[in-house]
Amino acid sequence: MNVVLVTGASSGIGKEFAREFACRGYNLVLVARRAELLEEIRKEFVEEYKVNVDCFACDLTADPKAVYDFCKEKEYEVSVLINNAGYGDYGNFIDSDLDKALGMIELNNKALVALTYYFIKDMKNAGYGHVINTGSVASLIPGPYMAVYYATKAFVMSFSMALREELRDDNIKVSVLCPAPTRSDFWKVANGETASIYDNVFARTSSDAAKTGYQLFTSNKPYAIDGIQYKILINVARHLPLELCARAVGFLQSKTKKKRNG
Ligand code: NAP
Repeated sequence: MNVVLVTGASSGIGKEFAREFACRGYNLVLVARRAELLEEIRKEFVEEYKVNVDCFACDLTADPKAVYDFCKEKEYEVSVLINNAGYGDYGNFIDSDLDKALGMIELNNKALVALTYYFIKDMKNAGYGHVINTGSVASLIPGPYMAVYYATKAFVMSFSMALREELRDDNIKVSVLCPAPTRSDFWKVANGETASIYDNVFARTSSDAAKTGYQLFTSNKPYAIDGIQYKILINVARHLPLELCARAVGFLQSKTKKKRNG
C-alpha cells in the first residue's frame, strides 16, 4: 500500500500536515512517541476521511531505522516522507541543559538524515518520491537565545537543498517547509512563551503551516515560508550582513519570555 509517512504527527503542525493528506484520500503512517494521541488521531482520520491510517509509536532519537523496518514489514511504500518531528529550547546557550541541546540535534538532524537515507533508496527504485522536511524560518537566519535550534534548522535547509540537487534526475523531490512562530506545543517544550507580537499581528496556526506544507507537495518549490508577513521579514533579514542579522533577530528573540517555572 502506498502511504504518506509523517513524523511528529501526534500534535501541532505534524497532525495538521497529516490531515491535509488524509482529507485528499491519502493513506498514512503516523509516527511520534505518544501512542495514545496517535491512536486518537488515527480513529478521527479513519472516520472522517475514510483512509487507511497506521501508527508507529517510537522515540526517533533511539532507533530511526525501526520506522523503516516497520514499513517494510507491513509492505508500505512510502512515496511521501514528511520529516516533521522536532523541538527547540529557549534561553542563553551558556545556561542551557546540554543534554536537551544534544537531544535536539539527534532528533532535528540525525533522525531526519537517517529516515531520509533509508526511504529515498526505495523511492529511487519506485521511480518517484517526495521528502518534505520541516525546517523553520530559523533555517534562513541565525537565532540568538535559540542558538542550537536555529543551527539545527539551518542544517535541515542545507542538507535538503543539496540532496534535492543530487536527486534532480531521479524524480525525487526534496523540499523544506519553513514555519514561522506558530501556536502549538512547541513553545511549551522549548521552555519559552512567544512574545505577544507573535500571538497577535503575526500569529500563525498549525493548520496555516500545514497548508503551506501541502502547497510544497503540489508545486516544484524548493522551500516555502509560511505567512506573507514572515516572507517579507525573513527576506529582508537574510540579506543583512550576518552579524547584523543576528543582532536584529536577537533583539526580537529577547522579547520572547523564558517560562518562570520551566
Ligand atoms: P509540537 O506540537 O511540539 O510537535 C512536535 C512533534 O514532534 C510531536 O508530535 C512530538 O510527538 C514529536 N516528537 C518530539 N520528540 C520526538 C521524539 N524523540 N521521537 C519522535 N517524535 C518526537 O510542535 P510543532 O510546532 O508542531 O513542531 C513541529 C515541527 O515544526 C518541528 O520540527 C519544529 O521545529 C517546527 N517548527 C515549529 C515552529 C513553531 O513555532 N511551532 C516554528 C518553526 C518550525 P511526541 O511528543 O508524541 O513524541
